[in-house]
Amino acid sequence: KQPLLQVKDLKQHFPIKGGVLGRTVNHVKAVDGVSFDIYPGETVSIVGESGCGKSTTGRSILRLDEPTSGDVLFEGKNILNINKQQMKKVRGDLQVIFQDPYASLNPRQTVGQILNESMATLDVVPKKKRPARIVELLRQVGLPSDIVNRYPHEFSGGQRQRIGIARALAVEPKLIICDEAVSALDVSVQAQVLNLLNNLKKEYDLTYLFIAHDLGVVRHFSDRVIVMYLGRIVEIADKKSLFANPQHPYTKALLSAIPVPSRRNKTDRVILKGDVPSPIDPPSGCSFHTRCPIATEACKENIPKFKKVGENHYVACDLV
Ligand code: SF4
Ligand code: MG
Repeated sequence: KQPLLQVKDLKQHFPIKGGVLGRTVNHVKAVDGVSFDIYPGETVSIVGESGCGKSTTGRSILRLDEPTSGDVLFEGKNILNINKQQMKKVRGDLQVIFQDPYASLNPRQTVGQILNESMATLDVVPKKKRPARIVELLRQVGLPSDIVNRYPHEFSGGQRQRIGIARALAVEPKLIICDEAVSALDVSVQAQVLNLLNNLKKEYDLTYLFIAHDLGVVRHFSDRVIVMYLGRIVEIADKKSLFANPQHPYTKALLSAIPVPSRRNKTDRVILKGDVPSPIDPPSGCSFHTRCPIATEACKENIPKFKKVGENHYVACDLV
């Protein structure tokens, strides 16, 4: 089977301007050589602390920020070197749901106008059929159809996220990037929205790239999990394998931070020392060495290569 999405050595180095001439004096290496594939029907999650480059990876794939280098292939076609018109078509297949739907929903548009505009921009549904389709979409995301004339501010966070999901679905996408799509919601509402996304996946044959800072959230939702640290991938594995048998010291620390009071006592918790270093001047060698509980002198010099440690399980650590 051909991957739906292939990301190859993706880099996003944002220039920092400085001095009186406003020249580029340095770069924020937000994404620093990220490669992965997503197969049709999969849910692949990217997790990591804030600033690890996970959202930037999503934005770079969508070209909301043009990547510095690398390749992004969608259905085998490189979408980084196509023109605006061709990219518009791809946008119909590649949708995004953001953390704060309120910020991404036009406050002056009614729910009906928002959904109609989404369909009109990409011309996916004939004009005549749109009103019926809007009612259908609202039903599918669990909202009453009589809200078409209401405005985003009249809804709760969870309901707004459902509107955001309906807007993404309106263009009949193949892949949806969910960027912290449930992070701002209460735990019970989170579960409802995750359930909804799961049901819609089956109904619409969707594929998800799910970006989250919390391994707890992705636990029941992913097929595969990618762990990122300082702009690089440190581990990729099937969900089962990652949770049962984490290999990278960073993944182990993240996992130990998930509160599971009944099954884990406090002594199991791995506390990482210090903060995430700056992506402007990341540590040499293995960029995790400043916080790694098992780092050696060699870790300061050698950049660890990916190695296969199991079926569908890869890790970048020289001590594994
Ligand atoms: Fe820790 Fe060294 Fe492995 Fe990096 S390579 S994760 S510093 S042990
Ligand atoms: Mg983010």
